[in-house]
Amino acid sequence: MKLYILIYSTIYKKCCYLLVNIMNYSSSFILEFCLLFLITYIFQIIAIESKTIVIEPIDTIAISIGIIVIIINDMKKRLITGITPTGNITLGNYAGAIKPMVEAQDDNEVVIFSADLHGITTGNVNGENLEKNTINTIALYLASGIDPSKSTIFLQSEIKEHTELSYLITCHLTYGELSRMTQYKDKSSKFKMSNGTEKVPAGLLFYPSLMAADILLYDADIVPVGKDQKQHIELTRDVANRINKKYGNIFTVPSPMISKSNSSKIMSLTDPTKKMSKSDSDIQGTIFLLDNERDVRKKIKSAITDSENSIHYDPENKPGVSNLIEIIKLLSGKSYEQIEKEFVGKHYGHLKDEVANEVVLFLNNIQQKHKEILESNLIDKVLDDGYKKVKPLAQDKILELKNSIGFYNRNKG
Ligand code: ATP
Ligand code: MG
Repeated sequence: MKLYILIYSTIYKKCCYLLVNIMNYSSSFILEFCLLFLITYIFQIIAIESKTIVIEPIDTIAISIGIIVIIINDMKKRLITGITPTGNITLGNYAGAIKPMVEAQDDNEVVIFSADLHGITTGNVNGENLEKNTINTIALYLASGIDPSKSTIFLQSEIKEHTELSYLITCHLTYGELSRMTQYKDKSSKFKMSNGTEKVPAGLLFYPSLMAADILLYDADIVPVGKDQKQHIELTRDVANRINKKYGNIFTVPSPMISKSNSSKIMSLTDPTKKMSKSDSDIQGTIFLLDNERDVRKKIKSAITDSENSIHYDPENKPGVSNLIEIIKLLSGKSYEQIEKEFVGKHYGHLKDEVANEVVLFLNNIQQKHKEILESNLIDKVLDDGYKKVKPLAQDKILELKNSIGFYNRNKG
């Protein structure tokens, strides 16, 4: 009997999850709820008829609602992500960081922040650029489809608890852990002179503490990151577990969501073996979301390809052509096969024209919205709303941690 119940409940749960996943593409919550209810009802009838479970019909309704609520809540995860306002946003940032959030916001609680504190990590700050890039980053998120009625957007430096938690976390990490981070090793090596003098900014060392604070402050379940950030998430998990063990269950231990393979990675147009980057000194390889049409067409026309003149997706052997196909896929939603089919017998010139047309169309739309957003007071309103939403969460979390550590709290009781 126990085995029957186990098999039965497993199949039932699988069906519910399958349905919820299918319905992820629909925006109708009511329809989703009704279908889940129907599945639950059918399973309950089967259970009662087959005497697998002996319960009263009224209980079946209560159980159905309970299970459905649990599953729906279970599916709604809190995703948190930030973009450092260190430069103009690129098509790569759109592919890897903005688009996934736009797609996730219907079924998850999406929290986005402009990581302006991370923007001063090395102490090399141009205040004017920091402000301009912060505003543009938020405006571009909104122009790209982040809906402030579904997602929360805030400014990292406005929530002082990030810096406070960062310090509390730092005290629970070791120098060894921080200095072993690959990003620290890579970036700090650039500050070592040939004569042996070192002037490594301490901000680089403590970067992972601040990143852990960004995530743990809000009990985020999932953090979408590129492969380069996986190590920092692992450190965040370690320190969260360490603090939880020491002071009680304070933090949710987050999971990384690593973008799959190369599917959302856009490469530089001038060197398709390295990723497109907003801080790349070679701006000819980078498409910025605020580039004008003439520059975009010129950059794409000069994109590196190969001498084969055969258009198919093969990132290893044909990185340049594959990157162009990737861009069409990103913006049109077509599959690799569809794109390859459309270009059978055609030349690289045709491919580049198509890429340029897709990009120009996409950028025109984004730039038009970006302009309207800047002319309105939407950014202030969005940041005000975001502040009001996240500030109490951050305050509660800090208070909980400080009380558990044993700080003298004069307002207590
Ligand atoms: P920087 O050169 O300053 O490091 P960046 O372009 O790499 O800038 P980040 O601020 O480091 O941008 O990253 C913001 C987000 O954009 C991250 O989630 C990162 O994974 C994603 N991202 C950056 N470049 C690409 C790219 N070429 N393709 C896909 N995703 C990208
Ligand atoms: Mg980067």
